[in-house]
Amino acid sequence: MSDACIFCRIVGGTIPATLVASNAYGVAFRDLFPQAPSHLLVIPRRHVASLAEATDGAELGALMLLAAEVARLEGMEDAGYRVVANTGKDGGQTVHHLHLHVLGGRTMHWPPG
Ligand code: AMP
Repeated sequence: MSDACIFCRIVGGTIPATLVASNAYGVAFRDLFPQAPSHLLVIPRRHVASLAEATDGAELGALMLLAAEVARLEGMEDAGYRVVANTGKDGGQTVHHLHLHVLGGRTMHWPPG
């Protein structure tokens, strides 16, 4: 847990967020600047800087299951949705605490920008 990390502070409750779901390993909340009608972020409770730093398969599995759960809660299961982990500079990562974007509610395009 790092006071300098905005997502650690969301986990710790010192920065507000709209929480949607959680499990033992992670929490899910709404993105402040949604890029789709439904745009959630799924993050680990402990500080992991990015997917490149991840080492715990149980933790990653739990985060993926939480992403699927929030997609279900958002009613996106049938129509589909996208899960993205921007990683590092070329990946476009701006917050350096691992997070899965869960995007849906509209048709996604490929390739991404
Ligand atoms: P990335 O660019 O992949 O690192 O994604 C970071 C995401 O965090 C962006 O989509 C931001 O809109 C989102 N974000 C940044 N600060 C907050 C916050 N305080 N609450 C919710 N979402 C945030």
